[in-house]
Amino acid sequence: MLPGLPPWLFPGYSTDGHEEIPVGGEGLSSLWPAFSQPEKMDTSGDLEPGCLLFGKMPTIKGVKESAVLRTVWWIKRDIRISDNHCLYLASESSEEVIPFFCWEPAVVNAEDYGTFHLQAQWQAVRGLSASLQKRGSGLVERMGEVVDELDALFAQVPFQILRSYQETGNDLTFRRDRAVRAWCREKGVEWVESVGSTVIRGLSAEQKRTHQGKGPRGRLAVLPIPENLRPPKDKSIFSHPRGWEELTASFPLLSAPLSSALQTVNEGAAWDTLSSFLSERGLAYSGGISSPNTAFSAGSRLSPHLAWGTISPGSVFRALDQKREQLNAQRAPSPWKRSLSAFESRLHWRDHFVQRLEGSPQMEFSAINPSFDRVEYENNPEFLTAWIDGRTGFPMIDACMRCLGETGFMNFRMRAMVVSFACFGLHLSWRTIHGPLAQVFLDYEPGIHLSQLQMQAGITGINAIRVYSPAKQFLDHDKEGSFVRRWVPELRDRTAVEIAHAGEIDLPDYYPPIISLKERTRKMKEQIFSIRKSESAQKSARITLQKHGSRKRTNLGTKSKAADGGQLALFKD
Ligand SMILES: Cc1cc2nc3c(=O)[nH]c(=O)nc-3n(C[C@H](O)[C@H](O)[C@H](O)COP(=O)(O)OP(=O)(O)OC[C@H]3O[C@@H](n4cnc5c(N)ncnc54)[C@H](O)[C@@H]3O)c2cc1C
Repeated sequence: MLPGLPPWLFPGYSTDGHEEIPVGGEGLSSLWPAFSQPEKMDTSGDLEPGCLLFGKMPTIKGVKESAVLRTVWWIKRDIRISDNHCLYLASESSEEVIPFFCWEPAVVNAEDYGTFHLQAQWQAVRGLSASLQKRGSGLVERMGEVVDELDALFAQVPFQILRSYQETGNDLTFRRDRAVRAWCREKGVEWVESVGSTVIRGLSAEQKRTHQGKGPRGRLAVLPIPENLRPPKDKSIFSHPRGWEELTASFPLLSAPLSSALQTVNEGAAWDTLSSFLSERGLAYSGGISSPNTAFSAGSRLSPHLAWGTISPGSVFRALDQKREQLNAQRAPSPWKRSLSAFESRLHWRDHFVQRLEGSPQMEFSAINPSFDRVEYENNPEFLTAWIDGRTGFPMIDACMRCLGETGFMNFRMRAMVVSFACFGLHLSWRTIHGPLAQVFLDYEPGIHLSQLQMQAGITGINAIRVYSPAKQFLDHDKEGSFVRRWVPELRDRTAVEIAHAGEIDLPDYYPPIISLKERTRKMKEQIFSIRKSESAQKSARITLQKHGSRKRTNLGTKSKAADGGQLALFKD
């Protein structure tokens, strides 16, 4: 393990469960000073009224001159103080700002939320609370459905403005937001939502393109940490941060000891992760992210931070630009350039997929191409359990699922492989695996997750159907067998050749293959191809492509250059 780097980058070394888990949000690294978070960022020129970042400046109706102009900042998946539009704008325009976070039972008990998410949010909120306290403010932390809790807060300290970031979540959070809007109307509170990415509310990719024109894909300006957080005069409303045991006592189904095998998720850790990536680790990015042996350290590992909002996409783009400037100043050809451009593309894909969910929210429940809702799946519960537990008898699948279940992370290629195996081999529908898989992805982001599930299940009708062979992935990306041996200890003493041929030879301590993969994959492919060829599926595919294809996709020809260079590139890692 490299000195100074956190243990979650090297999961093989870090799962003894005895490490201290940092929860503070202030641990900015001094190891990579070039990318340390600036306390005060230069935004000169960015603060014009009407600037995209500023959203709508509120006009406050009916507030008497003598009344305190009070804003509640409702913290959602934006658990940070730097480059936070809600916090910044609230502190610029209000006399008092109350940071408010709510543990919502309906959200926490939903099918796509798991213990890993609870730990991530808890760490992030603790870190945020510490950062706010350090700057003379604090946090109101409540538990209950958000409308009830806002109502209770309003009765205690009336406020005129509610600020939150615009969330592209699941149906549950969308309906929750509608209830909040109705409550705001009833109380005369103005709800101002800030945009934290290039995703545009309610639009499809096509509408977004029309909206934006053909200009370059945008960089968002970055806002500084406000100098004055404008805490209320009466600070007694602020809460003491909840302990982990106290929190999990309210959610017994998610109760588990804190896990040190998961990435730490808070603002300080986010900046450390970005710094270590752009200073050292990222050099191995191109090529390194394909193998589960190298992706833990070669990947940026920013996904949980972007998902929970402990860092903003704008801050990441800005650091990327700074790195490029440094390299350009050196004027020497650099292997970094390839890695940085691959990384940048993925950052853009993020918004592309989140936009897809904005444009087609029904994709949480049905195929984006409705013709594929006819695919018949077996949905055998025993197969589902064996897959989740990593007991399928396919070493590479079992290693990935066990690794995911412990670390909450897996690289793109292996995620695609386990989904492909579940849908094409086990005949589990993408809808059946959605919840269990979302729960073990520490970085669960509904827009990316649902899009990728449908793509890897082969049911979009606009992407080439790609079925991953676990045996080939083993030979390509773990040919020495170290990853499999690490996560499947039953195979610890087996040679790589034996692991590659598990299923064909007798391995007494290991599971026999749960299915005949070749045969079952053939059947599922036949079913999917026959639907794909149907007139109704072709028609829906044209609409889907028009609505959701990336800007490089212009037609449905799966072999066209346009297609290969565009959306299909999303399969490559
Ligand atoms: C079935 C499946 C489900 C997935 N679910 C999620 C999810 O819930 N949340 C999530 O963040 N990623 C998801 N991904 C995409 C990808 O696997 C992860 O983003 C990536 O492995 C995270 O590692 P990293 O932070 O080192 O990413 P890097 O490779 O360093 O990429 C930088 C950032 O770009 C974004 N990104 C990377 N790859 C993609 C991609 N293919 N599509 C969209 N955005 C991308 C992420 O925010 C990531 O942090 C999923 C992929 C598959 C196949």
